[in-house]
Amino acid sequence: MQTPKKTAIVGSGLVGSLLAIYLKHRGHEVDVYDRRPDIRTIEFSGRSINLAMSRRGWKALEEVGIADEVRKVAIKMDKRAIHTLDKPLYFQPYGKEGQAIYSISRGILNKKMIDLAEQAGAGFVFESKVWDVDLPEATIRTGESENTVWQARKYDLVFGADGAFSRVRHKMQRQSRFNYSQEFLDTGYKELTIPPNTDGSHKLDKHSLHIWPRGAFMFIALPNLDGSFTGTLFMPFEGKNSFETLDTEKKVQAFFEHYFPDVVEDIPSLLKDFFKNPTSALVTVKCFPWTYWDKVALVGDAAHAIVPFYGQGMNAGFEDIRLLNHLMNIHGDDWEAIFKQYQTERKPNADAIAELSFRNFMEMSSKTADADFILQKKIESRFAEKYPGKWMPLYSRVTFSDRPYAEALAEGDRQRAIMEKVMQMDNIAEIWDSETVEEKILSLLEEMAPGAFSR
Ligand SMILES: Cc1cc2nc3c(=O)[nH]c(=O)nc-3n(C[C@H](O)[C@H](O)[C@H](O)COP(=O)(O)OP(=O)(O)OC[C@H]3O[C@@H](n4cnc5c(N)ncnc54)[C@H](O)[C@@H]3O)c2cc1C
Repeated sequence: MQTPKKTAIVGSGLVGSLLAIYLKHRGHEVDVYDRRPDIRTIEFSGRSINLAMSRRGWKALEEVGIADEVRKVAIKMDKRAIHTLDKPLYFQPYGKEGQAIYSISRGILNKKMIDLAEQAGAGFVFESKVWDVDLPEATIRTGESENTVWQARKYDLVFGADGAFSRVRHKMQRQSRFNYSQEFLDTGYKELTIPPNTDGSHKLDKHSLHIWPRGAFMFIALPNLDGSFTGTLFMPFEGKNSFETLDTEKKVQAFFEHYFPDVVEDIPSLLKDFFKNPTSALVTVKCFPWTYWDKVALVGDAAHAIVPFYGQGMNAGFEDIRLLNHLMNIHGDDWEAIFKQYQTERKPNADAIAELSFRNFMEMSSKTADADFILQKKIESRFAEKYPGKWMPLYSRVTFSDRPYAEALAEGDRQRAIMEKVMQMDNIAEIWDSETVEEKILSLLEEMAPGAFSR
């Protein structure tokens, strides 16, 4: 049992509202501030960004008793559906029987999480931007604009759950020895909707994450509850086949007809949406420390924004909260110890998932259609099925397990080195399912011990 604290959470996004629920369950007083209006009052079709929820996210929801509520708005995706230009559509199961990721609309989930946090007793103050934080005093300053008089509100604890461009972090950045980096990808994204059929059914298989890999760019689509799909075009900002060059309706139409012929007709408002919807940037943010004394802590994207290619940003943020809760069990009222251990334990894992997400960009955009890559995946999954104790594919390690991300990265590097040698075997395309290949992997596993590749 902890002594109740007066707590402010800056940001009512997914991570802030989950933290509010956890803290209320422990008996703390919780006020959540957001600069936006209450998302529940905004007319919203449920068709904007959707997220893939996986094991880590579910576990954090289960531990606070809200997973069943969230499952009601989730659609199971147990495979990738790969749309290439020169082959018929084919499917790659994500994991073993029963393993799946879940498509959830960010807007619908956020509304639900705020409802659940409110039911747990958290207070929400919307349209209230936090402009400044007095770190040693745990005092936030809110106001209508940068130039109006701000209102000071004093707390025992302040959590910065205010996203990739966090104001709380901004204040921490002014401390000596605070490390910070942000890196934008040259690739951006644009959302396009694939509406339902007239009878409300989905136009594509609704239990798949659809990918159209095309080298430097790709289109993906995740299902929504209303029969639509949210499609996302990831593409360089500049250069050949870029957002910059697709500057007329004619060019966009020709581009889609050429590169995405099997889906172009399913996006009736392509041209309107393409020019109306924003082209957004993708950023990786790293920083350290994440906490200030026993007063202030960053969580979610505010501490570690990553590119979305492993579908782990929200999952990682939810895992932050589960760890904090675990540390509250261990350290009780010693908030300095809670915060110290939180940042020390979590930082290497946040860096690892940032790296893995970046690497997965390459894999999703170019390699999913590559013959060697497909063969390698087939060898890995055959071996993993036969020797589950010896080989867990990297994707499964990240998505279907809750072992630390840093361990997944190290083990992934080891597996990659092993597979590089396996792929060099003579006639690998013919002997891929033979005992010779199996024995080679077993001996390489012995030879290349775990740890040799850890970082
Ligand atoms: C294209 C794309 C696809 C993605 N796909 C996935 C996926 O499949 N799976 C996955 O797990 N993750 C995914 N993510 C990542 C995921 O969206 C984020 O990691 C997650 O939303 C982070 O939640 P958060 O609560 O930390 O921050 P945010 O969702 O950014 O919320 C921050 C909140 O703080 C508020 N705020 C900001 N500044 C202030 C201030 N000064 N005062 C008051 N309030 C403030 C904002 O209004 C907002 O409500 C994706 C991201 C993108 C961009």
